[in-house]
Amino acid sequence: METVKEMFGSNVFDDRVMKANLPAKVYASLKKTIDEGTELDSSVANAVAEAMKEWAIAKGATHFTHWFQPLTGVTAEKHDSFISPSPDGGVIMEFSGKELIKGEPDASSFPSGGIRATFEARGYTAWDPTSYAFVKGKTLCIPTAFCSYGGEALDKKTPLLRSMAALNKQALRILKLFGNSDVKCVRTSVGPEQEYFLITKEMYDKRPDIRFTGRTLFGCKPPKGQEMDDHYFGVIKPKVAEFMEDLNEELWKLGILAKTEHNEVAPAQHELAPIYTTTNIATDHNQLMMEMMQKIASKHGLVCLLHEKPFAGVNGSGKHNNWSMATDTGINLLSPGDTPHENVQFLTFLCAVIKAVDEYQDLLRISVATAGNDHRLGANEAPPAVVSIFLGDELTAILEAIETDTPYSGTVRTKMKLGVDVLPQFNRDTTDRNRTSPFAFTGNKFEFRMLGSSNSISCANIMLNSAVAEVLKGFADELEVADDFTAALHGIIRKTIKDHKHILFNGNGYDASWIGEATEKRGLLNYRTTPDCMPHLLDKKNADMLKGLGVFTQTELDSRVDIMLENYCKTVIIEANTMVDMAGTAITPAVAEYTHKLADSIIAKKAACGSVACAYESSAMKTLSELTDAIAVSTASLEAKIADVKAIDDVIEQSYAIRDELIPAMDALRALVDSAETKTAKAYWPYPSYADMLFSVK
Ligand code: ADP
Ligand code: MG
Repeated sequence: METVKEMFGSNVFDDRVMKANLPAKVYASLKKTIDEGTELDSSVANAVAEAMKEWAIAKGATHFTHWFQPLTGVTAEKHDSFISPSPDGGVIMEFSGKELIKGEPDASSFPSGGIRATFEARGYTAWDPTSYAFVKGKTLCIPTAFCSYGGEALDKKTPLLRSMAALNKQALRILKLFGNSDVKCVRTSVGPEQEYFLITKEMYDKRPDIRFTGRTLFGCKPPKGQEMDDHYFGVIKPKVAEFMEDLNEELWKLGILAKTEHNEVAPAQHELAPIYTTTNIATDHNQLMMEMMQKIASKHGLVCLLHEKPFAGVNGSGKHNNWSMATDTGINLLSPGDTPHENVQFLTFLCAVIKAVDEYQDLLRISVATAGNDHRLGANEAPPAVVSIFLGDELTAILEAIETDTPYSGTVRTKMKLGVDVLPQFNRDTTDRNRTSPFAFTGNKFEFRMLGSSNSISCANIMLNSAVAEVLKGFADELEVADDFTAALHGIIRKTIKDHKHILFNGNGYDASWIGEATEKRGLLNYRTTPDCMPHLLDKKNADMLKGLGVFTQTELDSRVDIMLENYCKTVIIEANTMVDMAGTAITPAVAEYTHKLADSIIAKKAACGSVACAYESSAMKTLSELTDAIAVSTASLEAKIADVKAIDDVIEQSYAIRDELIPAMDALRALVDSAETKTAKAYWPYPSYADMLFSVK
C-alpha cells in the first residue's frame, strides 16, 4: 500500500513534477509567474503543455479540460480528448500551448446576468498558472478563469485573483514604509473548515425535497436531536470512518491538505478542515473537496448534504473561513511579533482589518447571502446577520489603552508608546473561545464564520481582500507623504480604533439583546435576508471601491446582483413547487387514508362492541380531518402565491415578494404538515422521518 507521503499530491502537476519534467529555463520562467505574480511568458506554454500531457497520459488520462467556476456556484468542465488523427489512420496524442492557455467553451448556458446575449455564445477560459493542474479520473484538469468574449468575468476566480493582486499591491506599499525591502509579494491565505451531513442513500431516495432542493421542506423534530451534545467530537461511526478514510486519500492525491475531521454538533453532522494555503488555491481545493465528498459518499451508499440547513430545528452547516495575510518571506502579518517594530506593523494590519470590516460590513454580509444561508444566520446556531469583530478581552484592552493614551492595565503596566514598547504578551489561548462571533481574531488570523456550507469561499475572500486593500491604500496614501512616519502612523492607529471600535464585540453573539444593542446603540447593519442585502452591492461606496481597485467593472457588478437574486428566487420557487407537489400527491392523500382507517376502526369497534367510546380514534380523526382540509387550503394558497411571484419581472421586486409572501406561505404549510406528521401512524406517512434520516448511518 502506498504511504501517505507517496500518495500526497500524486495526481497533481506540482512543483516537484514541473522541476523534474520541464527544461530549466521554462521552469524558472513559470516559477516566477507562480511565485511573484509576474505575467506568463507565452513562449513557455508549449513546453509546459507537452510536459503536462506526457505526465497526465502516464497517469492514465485520455482527456483534458479547462476546469472553471462559473457563477452557478459549482465547477464546470468540458472534456476534450488528446487524440488527433495521424496520416497513417491512427491517432497521436496532442496538447498544445494554445490549448493550455485558452479555451473557448460555449458560454451561453452559464449565468451571465445579461453581460453576454445568448447569440454571442463565445466565452473563453484562461489558464491560472498559480493553481496546479491535476488529474481527476481520466482527465487532466487545468484550473482556469472564465470570461466573456469582451473580457468581463463570468466566474468566481477572476475577481478573486484581482482582489489578491489589489491587496498585494497595497500591502507592499505599507511594508515598504516599514523598511521591508526584501518582501516581493503578500498573499492572503485561507483554511476553510467545511461542515456537512451524511445520510444513507436509501433515505435520500425517499425524500423528494432533499433530492430536488438539498433540504427537507417538511418534517417534525425528532424525539432526540442535539440536546444531549453527545455527538460533537463523539466517536466516529464505522461507516463514517470508512468514508472519511477514503475521502482523505482522494484529497491527498489531489494535493489537498485534509487534516482535521470530527463529528459536529448535530447528529449525522461532520467537519473536515484542511491546512491553510494561498487563497485561490484554497478556493479551488474547497470546490474539489465538496465535489469529492459527494462522490465518495455515493461509493459508500451515503449522500453528503452540503446544504446550509438540511433539517429545521437542527444545527445547520457552515464554513469557517480562516484568513490571514503573509509575505513571501514567511511573515504572517496578523501575528503579533516579538519586537516593537513587528508589533507596530502587526497593529497597523490589525487596524486595517478592523476598519475594513466596519466600513464594508454590507459587502461581507452580501458575500455569504444565499437562500440557504438565510435559514442559519441569526438562528442561534450560527452568527447573527450583524457583522461584528471579536478580538478577545486582552487585545481589546490593549487597543483601548492605545486609543486613550492610558496605561494598559494587563500584564505590563506601562504606557504603550508605539514604536518603542513591545506589545504586552497576551495569551493567545483566550482568543478562540467565542464561537458566536461572525468575525473572530484567533491569535494569528481572523475566522469569518458566516459562510454557508455550500458557498464557494471565493465571494467572501473577494470582499475581504478588497476591503482590506482599500483601507491599506488609504493608510499608504497618508503615510507616504508624512514628514514624521511614526507620529503619522500613531495618529492613524488611534483614529482607527476610535472610529471603528463600535464594531468590536466580545460578548455572546447569540444573545437576543445583542441585536438591539448592535443596531440601535452601535449603528451596525442588520440585513436579515438575501433580498435585504444584495442590492447594496451597487451602493456608490461599494461600487466605487471595487471598481477603483480593479476588482469588478460596473457591468460585472450589475450582472452579479442580477445573478445572485435570480438564484435566490429560483431556489425558493423550486422549493415551493416541491412542497406543493409533496403535499398534494403524497401527504394529503396519506393523511386522508389514515383518517379513513380511523373511521373504519370506529365503525368496526362499534359494530363489535356497541357503545365503546373510541376516544382516541374520534379525537385523532377530528384533528386530522381538520388538518387535511387546512393543508389543502394552504397548498392551494401557496400555489397561487407561486404564480403571483413568477409573474413579477423585476428580479429585486420578485425577491421582495418571495421574502414577504412566498416564504411565509411555505412556513404556514409546513407547520400544518409537521403537525399532521406527529398524529399520523408512521406506517401511513409517505416519507422517512427526521429520526430515520438523522440516525440512518450506522
Ligand atoms: P479551530 O478553529 O477548529 O480551533 P484551528 O484554529 O487550529 O482550528 O485552525 C482552523 C483552520 O485555520 C485550519 O484550516 C488552519 O489551517 C487554518 N489556519 C491556521 N493558521 C492560518 C493562517 N495563518 N491563515 C489562514 N488560515 C490559517
Ligand atoms: Mg475554527
